[in-house]
Amino acid sequence: LVSRENHPERSTVHVGGVPIGPGTVTLIAGPCAVETREQTLEAARMAQAAGATLLRGGAYKPRTSPYAFQGLGEQGLRILAEVREETGLPIVTEVVDAHDVPLVASYADMLQVGTRNAQNFGLLQAVGAAGRPVLLKRGMSATMEEWLMAAEYIAQRGNLDVVLCERGIRTFETATRNTLDVAAVPVAQRLSHLPVIVDPSHSGGRRDLVLPLSRAAIAAGADGIIIDVHPRPEQALCDGPQALVDTDLGELAQVMRDFPPLL
Ligand code: PEP
Repeated sequence: LVSRENHPERSTVHVGGVPIGPGTVTLIAGPCAVETREQTLEAARMAQAAGATLLRGGAYKPRTSPYAFQGLGEQGLRILAEVREETGLPIVTEVVDAHDVPLVASYADMLQVGTRNAQNFGLLQAVGAAGRPVLLKRGMSATMEEWLMAAEYIAQRGNLDVVLCERGIRTFETATRNTLDVAAVPVAQRLSHLPVIVDPSHSGGRRDLVLPLSRAAIAAGADGIIIDVHPRPEQALCDGPQALVDTDLGELAQVMRDFPPLL
């Protein structure tokens, strides 16, 4: 269903009216985690000023440590809905458990499946049946075949509104959090008709790498990028070191203008 063999035209997925697909480079930005209403609204305004047309933000956080901030849950979803009301930005947010899919889908414009759940087949089937577009991160150790088969699980439930997201893979290199597989963009676009975007924030794990990796992603033909921003990253409850701050946003807007989308 997701293969380009039977569907040669590349697809566009619409999220609350915002297109992700060929001919555009969509910027999705916002806080890694929803912490407070004020922080989320500030981050959303920063994102919008940089040209973002979709707001990201996690209410359910899949953390390596069970002692780390796990997200605000439904309260976080309510904050996201309020911020959507104020800014007009449709919401992209992660769901980590199949049982939560109906609840998260009742607030979200797009459901995100994170790298740690990229082969959680029950969750993939549940989001496939939820009636919302899905942002499917690549598993951190997933081959192209495994990634596309994960998308196939969603599509099989009748949902072809799936956007693939390369977010860095595990390699021997420890200087960066993950290794951005730039080649995954054109390879996935050749194998699948689905749009392919890149997460430079979770790939590098460092603020200073976000803009160079964004340039690389767009130059490789990505249909969009998804970026963490935070008004006060030193106080962030999740992934502060990779969040862009106010002073980075002019340059991010320039990156978006510099590269005309590849057709
Ligand atoms: C995220 O985008 O908030 C996230 C946790 O990303 P990943 O699943 O790619 O680590």
